[in-house]
Amino acid sequence: MNGGEISGKPVTEEELLRLGYKKYYGEGIDIYYSKDICAHIGNCVRGNPKVFEVGRRPWIITDNGEVADNIRIIDTCPSGALKYIKH
Ligand code: SF4
Repeated sequence: MNGGEISGKPVTEEELLRLGYKKYYGEGIDIYYSKDICAHIGNCVRGNPKVFEVGRRPWIITDNGEVADNIRIIDTCPSGALKYIKH
């Protein structure tokens, strides 16, 4: 699923926050996550456990990964629970 879009349109922060996503700020990219949508498949954690680590607070540390790699992993999220906005 394209993590930069919702229904084929580029996502905006306003929309994501309205939909209940939580923001995880990063220098080059912000990651947004919705626990209500997450299907707990684990592609994110397998993709880069330095960025996505269940049980850690915060569980997402955006700057522990490269921007392009974060995007690649977010795009493997099958549920749409992960989104991103590039700066
Ligand atoms: S890849 Fe998406 S659906 Fe799977 S655990 Fe991560 S956030 Fe949840």
